[in-house]
Amino acid sequence: MFLSQASAFSENIKIVTVDSLEKEVLRQKTEEIYEDELPLAKEIAEKLFAALQPLLPAAGLAAPQIGISKSVFIFSFDRDPKNFEVVINPQFVPMSDELIEGWESCFSVLLQMAKVPRYQTIKATFLNLNGEKVEKVLEGFAAKVFQHEYDHLQGVENIDRKDSLVKSFESREELIAYLQEVKKEDSTRYVKPIQTEKNL
Ligand SMILES: [Zn+2]
Repeated sequence: MFLSQASAFSENIKIVTVDSLEKEVLRQKTEEIYEDELPLAKEIAEKLFAALQPLLPAAGLAAPQIGISKSVFIFSFDRDPKNFEVVINPQFVPMSDELIEGWESCFSVLLQMAKVPRYQTIKATFLNLNGEKVEKVLEGFAAKVFQHEYDHLQGVENIDRKDSLVKSFESREELIAYLQEVKKEDSTRYVKPIQTEKNL
């Protein structure tokens, strides 16, 4: 649905990177979306989809990455464009102390990857585009992506985290080659979001 609407923003939407002029937005905590701002959230979501189009398959993108300091991101639990969801004002709690550690790339960090411990299972709550509160249990890759995008809304890049191990690359091509290897490992850990999706 949004992928077709994204054509409304077919002009190039630039992704903000940690070394670009607009970089400060990446390190700011975002403002939440208020009840009367749902149309704005929808517009942001459409811009996020449009920005991601040339980069697919991809797992997610957060509003600060297109220069908007608002609490909105989109993510797909398996990088399939069909499974993108819009997440507004997210929160989460870990369901256990169990952590998974894996290499993460980020469209805002072109020459580095970070190995970051993330909670294996989380209970995520957020608003959807209708303003309804959604609660979901996410596991594995889905949980990892959600936590990565959530960090963006807090003004935190994965390379900033104290618990991350950062690896630098000479070129984007070198990074992408490494990422392909990482994705093979990831695939064994893809877990679909389980059970509870309910409007509270
Ligand atoms: Zn990112």
